[in-house]
Amino acid sequence: MDCPVCKEPMIVLELDEVEIDHCTSCGGIWLDAGELELLLGDPDSRDRFLSSFETDEVTEERSRRCPICRKRMEKVSAGANGKVRIDRCRNNDGIWLDEGELEEILQMGSLGKDDRVLRLLKEMFAKKRQ
Ligand SMILES: [Zn+2]
Ligand SMILES: [Zn+2]
Repeated sequence: MDCPVCKEPMIVLELDEVEIDHCTSCGGIWLDAGELELLLGDPDSRDRFLSSFETDEVTEERSRRCPICRKRMEKVSAGANGKVRIDRCRNNDGIWLDEGELEEILQMGSLGKDDRVLRLLKEMFAKKRQ
């Protein structure tokens, strides 16, 4: 699968038994539909977070194409005050997270299952930056 930003092939990484696609040039992450849910813990905070998704029609960020169906993705703001802005496939193939956005999401409230996922993420990206 190619990165929707750089068009470079992404690599597959395993994060707490979830396979994610990661672009080593821009640091972005592609999550197939349902994978974000797997990385989030506590069902209550997870549902609260997922229901905070709001389509953002006015953003000036460039829209990107879904790496699976190639259609333009929609911008969605998520979290309290629409803190994180992600790209979501309109056909529900999955979501695209720019570098650092998954960490931001996991750090929000009590979203992370435990600190393990966050720690894994940090390790993965620390390796990359060395
Ligand atoms: Zn990229
Ligand atoms: Zn798609």
